Amino acid sequence: MRHVDAAAIIDLVEQRLTASEREMYHQHLSECRECAAEYDYWWTFLSGLGPSQLKDAPEDVIDDCITIFEKPNPSPNTFQKARILLDSFIEPLPAMGLRGTIVAARQLVLRVDGLDIHLRISGKESNRTIQGQLLPLTRTALIDGAQVELRVEGQPAQFAFTDALGEFRFNDVPAGSCSFAIDLLSEGRTAHFLVQGG
Ligand SMILES: [Zn+2]
Repeated sequence: MRHVDAAAIIDLVEQRLTASEREMYHQHLSECRECAAEYDYWWTFLSGLGPSQLKDAPEDVIDDCITIFEKPNPSPNTFQKARILLDSFIEPLPAMGLRGTIVAARQLVLRVDGLDIHLRISGKESNRTIQGQLLPLTRTALIDGAQVELRVEGQPAQFAFTDALGEFRFNDVPAGSCSFAIDLLSEGRTAHFLVQGG
């Protein structure tokens, strides 16, 4: 069979599939290292290992991870359209609730060609904290030092830069839809996307 796509893997992690679908995918995962790694990745992410907890990994482990990543090759300047893979507002995460995790934040995963953008939006509507992480799909390149621009209509733009793990954070984000522009300097392109609602 073909590789299991990310949406199916998310359904699998969240136990939303029928027994026969589960069996079919687990069979594939047992034979395909690529999909098994993808599954592990999503399981870890959806289990609530958010950006703040990722920072708690031992320093030497982080150093090891960073050294195995490579610099990306430059690609032509292109405008990419984002696709939502997961939005906990639209699709609540039952599996997380079952594990006793309180889901007080909105979690989103967006995909722009070759890049997953994880967002966690928490806090009061008028004073939100947005944590994010950029994860290249190939996982051969971390995105360090990319400028992230956030605009909420009627407000001045806010800027943040990704750290060595591709993470960024905005504090005191006012209410309203959030328009992001991520300048992927190393790849010579910009990723634009809009997160509507709170
Ligand atoms: Zn596969």
